Amino acid sequence: MKVLEDRIRQEGLVLPGNVLKVNQFLNHQIDPDLMLDIGKEFVTLFGSQKITKILTVESSGIAPAIMTGLLLHVPVLFARKQKSSTMPGQLYSAQVYSYTKKTENTIAVESKFLLVDDHVLIVDDFLANGEAVNGLLEICRQAEAEVVGVGIAIEKSFQAGAKRITDQGVHLESLAKIASFADDQVHFVGEEV
Ligand code: 5GP
Repeated sequence: MKVLEDRIRQEGLVLPGNVLKVNQFLNHQIDPDLMLDIGKEFVTLFGSQKITKILTVESSGIAPAIMTGLLLHVPVLFARKQKSSTMPGQLYSAQVYSYTKKTENTIAVESKFLLVDDHVLIVDDFLANGEAVNGLLEICRQAEAEVVGVGIAIEKSFQAGAKRITDQGVHLESLAKIASFADDQVHFVGEEV
């Protein structure tokens, strides 16, 4: 997705540990027009299939997810990372190791929001080792909901996540695919040095 790649090139900052900082438009300040474009792209890629719910994980997945849900007129459910007193009900949960925070989290959704007849599109901001998406897939398995696919804004294709997801037979689409951070520059798939 050219507009996303251009923004990554212009505003992305490569940090130690293969982390891309995109705080200008996605992970801190959010550009709603760009998020809407991302939502439109996910609708183009997945919209021909039946989708009844968008599932993501707080917090950075919410912006692209909500635009996708808005365009498809379906609810957006985000898994929470901290157990909340407002979530007293039965939960579906999974253990997820956070790539950026280097901590193990339990992510959870209330079971009443994910039903056996749901057709779920999973959306997230980044795909690295696939921990977050794998946790969301596990939550869908617990609910016996059908997973339509996984839509990712920025995939770091040199890390293990994409293979981990597609090896499970899941339809994965990523809008910007990064091949490497050689010389602290972003190199997209197809333009490797
Ligand atoms: P994974 O679970 O696939 O290992 O990592 C994906 C999650 O970690 C995303 O939800 C995202 O929040 C965070 N993440 C992974 N890599 C990066 C990165 O390079 N930059 C930013 N900003 N977040 C990342």
